[in-house]
Amino acid sequence: MFFAQKYGYLHKNFSFAIRRVSCVTLHSMAAPAVITLPVPKYTKLFINGEFVDSVSGRTFETLDPRTGDAITSVAEATKEDVDEAVKAARKAFDHGPWPRMPGSERARILNKYADLVEQHLEELARLETLDNGKPLAACRAGDIPSCVKALRYYAGYADKIHGLTLKMSGEYQGYTLQEPIGVVGQIIPWNYPLSMFFYKISPALACGCTVVIKPAEQTPLTALYAAQLGKEAGIPAGVLNVLSGFGETAGAAISSHMGIDKIAFTGSTEVGRRIMEAAAKSNLKPVMLELGGKSPLIVMDDADVEEAVNLAHRAAYSNMGQICCAGTRIFVQEGIHDEFVKKAVERARQQVLGDPFMPGVQQGPQVDKAQFDKILKYIELGKREQANLLIGGKCWGDKGFYVEPTIFSDVQDNMKIAQDEIFGPVMSILKFKTVEEVIERGNKTIYGLAAGIVTKNINVANRLSRSLRAGVIWINCYLVTDMDAPFGGYKMSGIGRERSLCGLESYMQVKSVICPVYESPWL
Ligand code: ADP
Repeated sequence: MFFAQKYGYLHKNFSFAIRRVSCVTLHSMAAPAVITLPVPKYTKLFINGEFVDSVSGRTFETLDPRTGDAITSVAEATKEDVDEAVKAARKAFDHGPWPRMPGSERARILNKYADLVEQHLEELARLETLDNGKPLAACRAGDIPSCVKALRYYAGYADKIHGLTLKMSGEYQGYTLQEPIGVVGQIIPWNYPLSMFFYKISPALACGCTVVIKPAEQTPLTALYAAQLGKEAGIPAGVLNVLSGFGETAGAAISSHMGIDKIAFTGSTEVGRRIMEAAAKSNLKPVMLELGGKSPLIVMDDADVEEAVNLAHRAAYSNMGQICCAGTRIFVQEGIHDEFVKKAVERARQQVLGDPFMPGVQQGPQVDKAQFDKILKYIELGKREQANLLIGGKCWGDKGFYVEPTIFSDVQDNMKIAQDEIFGPVMSILKFKTVEEVIERGNKTIYGLAAGIVTKNINVANRLSRSLRAGVIWINCYLVTDMDAPFGGYKMSGIGRERSLCGLESYMQVKSVICPVYESPWL
């Protein structure tokens, strides 16, 4: 049966992949390898250390973005399942060993978890490619290793959580305790399914919190697999609960739950606002929101045009443009503008689209039909707004959710394509004259997640870095992230910072303990 499926895939889809790739790219492809599709093993909810069916018995299909066909059905969590998961997480936090064990013991378990993810890298990478559509090479080299790094980074902090000693005025002294905040609800998106899972759970688990996490409905498979690895690593029952399900039901139940002490969310600004409202209307739980972006990449006249084009290409098209901090407003100074535009088009023409399991493929499909339709709608809007469509602008192939890498030039600040987050392979090029002008225009969106600068002039780089209102500034690089670098947004790109010590601290609260130095004047 399995062989028949595999053969069927090779027979039916493999030739399709090659045909589509070869007709679009100027690059020659590596010799095709045999593609073996992974078979999902874990498709139920993970509550209190066990895989269980949903209370309602409902399931939903997760789809293969290469074809739009169902991969498998997974259990669909609703409010009742969220209640069960919170009950388990509450018990594990209030009475269980996890928050009470020495930090070194939590570190040992998290390091073991990292080892297990590393040992299962290939399976996880394949599952991620199948569920999300991102190139397998990127999963192998980027996504899955970043999960291992997150676990090890925060394992390193678990036994180094310290408070302060307080030298108070008067005859009193004190100290602070950094305590885990409690049961944490985490809601994650589909663009980096497993990386987001580990970026969220690692700091929370390291400091002793317990977790109820919901992966996006488009990409539940790797998170459920990771739940099993956490169990094997020795994470006690109830500490980590993973619920596949939809936003309006399971996600909303998490955000409004009275038994959850904090919410961490990554996704759209619109949903972030809803989550904050739900948190405010329930138990005023704090929220950490990592939201949308429309990041500028500013290319000055003194830049090497070829290098700047390569940088802009990666900034706009990596992960099929499905990155919150993608550089999508490319501001190019007038002296090199025309040459830049010409070279950017040439570069986009070389992009290798195709089946993400194929070696050498740089761009796979968008995650689903809804995103695919949204991107094409924005491209139509750009044309209507009189931006100049230079390349792309269409879907690609005859099935699945592929969109050609697209470039608009002559884009004006007030156009929708320069203001809204498209979340697809669409680059807008805008011309500017002076540094003052580009500071003002670069900041002219509701977002403030990231910004990039390409220049050889250190003074210009410094001035722009301080003037751009964004949570991360990349100078002569782009999309360079690290566990050690705080990440989060200004303005409507979010609240709070993840990664680094900031990420750990966001899952803790500070308690002041005060006592008299000598005898108590109160007794
Ligand atoms: P995108 O628009 O990129 O799909 P979303 O912000 O819609 O991103 O989704 C990100 C995550 O938020 C997903 O896990 C989704 O299920 C969840 N979500 C969507 N709507 C809600 C909601 N009303 N309440 C809580 N979570 C939600």
